[in-house]
Amino acid sequence: MRDTWDLSIFYTGFDDPAFARDLAALPQEIAAYRAAIDAPQEDAAIRLRTLLAERDALEARFERLSSFVQLTLACDATNEAANAAMTPLMAAAVAYAQADNALTRAVAAIPNLDAVLEGDGALRDCAFAIAERAENAAHLLPQEVEGPVLRMQLSGGEAFSQLRDKLDATLLVDYRGERLPLSAVRAKANDPDAAVRREAYEAELAAYKKIDLPMSYCLNSIKAEARTVAELRGFSGVLEMTLADSRMDAGTLEAMWAAIREALPELRVYFKAKAKLLGHDGALPFYDLFAPVGESHRTYTLEQARDLLLRVFGDFCPPMREMMDEAFQNGWIDAYPRAGKSGGAFCAGAYQFDQSRILANFAGSMEDVSTLAHELGHAFNNRMLRRVPRAMTETPMPLAETASTFNEVLLSAELRRGASAQEELHLLDAGLTECMQTMVDIYSRFLFEQKVVEAQADHAPSVGELCETMLWAQEQTYGDGLAPDARHPYMWACKSHYYSTGAHFYNFPYAFGNLFARGLYARYAREGKAFVPIYCDLLSRFGSGRIADVTASVGIDVTTPAFWREAVESVLTEVRRFEQLVEERK
Ligand SMILES: [Zn+2]
Repeated sequence: MRDTWDLSIFYTGFDDPAFARDLAALPQEIAAYRAAIDAPQEDAAIRLRTLLAERDALEARFERLSSFVQLTLACDATNEAANAAMTPLMAAAVAYAQADNALTRAVAAIPNLDAVLEGDGALRDCAFAIAERAENAAHLLPQEVEGPVLRMQLSGGEAFSQLRDKLDATLLVDYRGERLPLSAVRAKANDPDAAVRREAYEAELAAYKKIDLPMSYCLNSIKAEARTVAELRGFSGVLEMTLADSRMDAGTLEAMWAAIREALPELRVYFKAKAKLLGHDGALPFYDLFAPVGESHRTYTLEQARDLLLRVFGDFCPPMREMMDEAFQNGWIDAYPRAGKSGGAFCAGAYQFDQSRILANFAGSMEDVSTLAHELGHAFNNRMLRRVPRAMTETPMPLAETASTFNEVLLSAELRRGASAQEELHLLDAGLTECMQTMVDIYSRFLFEQKVVEAQADHAPSVGELCETMLWAQEQTYGDGLAPDARHPYMWACKSHYYSTGAHFYNFPYAFGNLFARGLYARYAREGKAFVPIYCDLLSRFGSGRIADVTASVGIDVTTPAFWREAVESVLTEVRRFEQLVEERK
């Protein structure tokens, strides 16, 4: 088993001649693609087929180059060769985005597009993606400003986003006489020792003061730019743009928030019960949100984590076990935290190799095992998407967290089966901790981002205003569940999601993913093995339609509150059981 990832499927190193060759060839290849789009061709079907094939080849090239560069940087933020490659790569990405917009305009100009798609087998398989392109043409940047805008984003939002990652990865935190990377200090939130958790939280908050001013510039600039882009693209605001890009409608989002909002008073019962368990008076302090509770203070080695995952997911779906085994054997996972490596966890797919790469900061807790299950869920989704053409793999954000969350829910349910009361308490807490993040914390992040985006209309909020707004947002959702004197005013500096230039409001997709996955798990619990092929098929179709249509294909109506209420109720059932176990323990 390997515990660092193997990037040699992309290139053997920055001195690999293929790397320099591919990077240098990119501008000509994009120019050729662009020329092909502009070239006259009588037969619309032949033209579309040719252009799609060329696009697939370019996508594969980009995937290979940018995976190699970005994954290298994720583990080694100051790597010189990788940093140097970012400039030509991003310039190529801009040229490619422009060429792709030209394709969108060309597709929109094809008369009788539906008939063309219907009359050709290969195009029929990609019909949704092509037809969607024609519809999206109305929301492209105006052609005359497209080039300058995209180039200015490189020195604007994109540059701020990169600066944010560097600030985060290189920040050293003074903790108990040592200087530790931020990711290592944040990992102490799971420590069984209460003093460690509190001191790590205090050290973390103190450390943000070293970077809060540049961080505030990063956040404000990225959100101000988003407003400008939304306006240029003819949207009424950033959220409307995000929903359109997410293939989702505002009604679905509101139906979900309404179900969460209604449940907040009952969800807060969990925080109060946990506070009682940890000896606090009334509400839970932020630094104990992730505190492990219950008798089972179990830790896992990476080998033990692997064995557990293979067993649990092998029972569910043998192809998933097979893939997980491959991931651990063949260097898909970079497991442990270290200096210069970014915090958190993510999964990056490489369609052309039918493989993924997973970054984790594994410290041995149950939550860390759950994170691995989560990222491996993404990897499994990537594998299922190989069943469809590349053009149909573009999964909207809200569906992108389904397979990952499903794995977390399944792991938790499996582990609770046959557990003692004290183990059950521990496991329920671990699951609910995650769940509260995706519902209560995520809702606060959504409210915060709405305020920050709105504020850009007349001013860029100061560090103080950003902290105030974050505390306000936490009050709205956590309410009396979270201790007023121990909240986290710097969550805006902590979470990288606010700083993505391509994905604004990258918070509600987690709430969607969590609740949608719970709905799916409930069906698996009811229907058993018969549901597994339906589930795999569903994952393969995540890029094949608008969200409401994709979910309706397995009988789920996401546009009404009823479905969401049912999913929220499954969480409340766990909250009630948790409270009961806490009472019995006293
Ligand atoms: Zn995820």
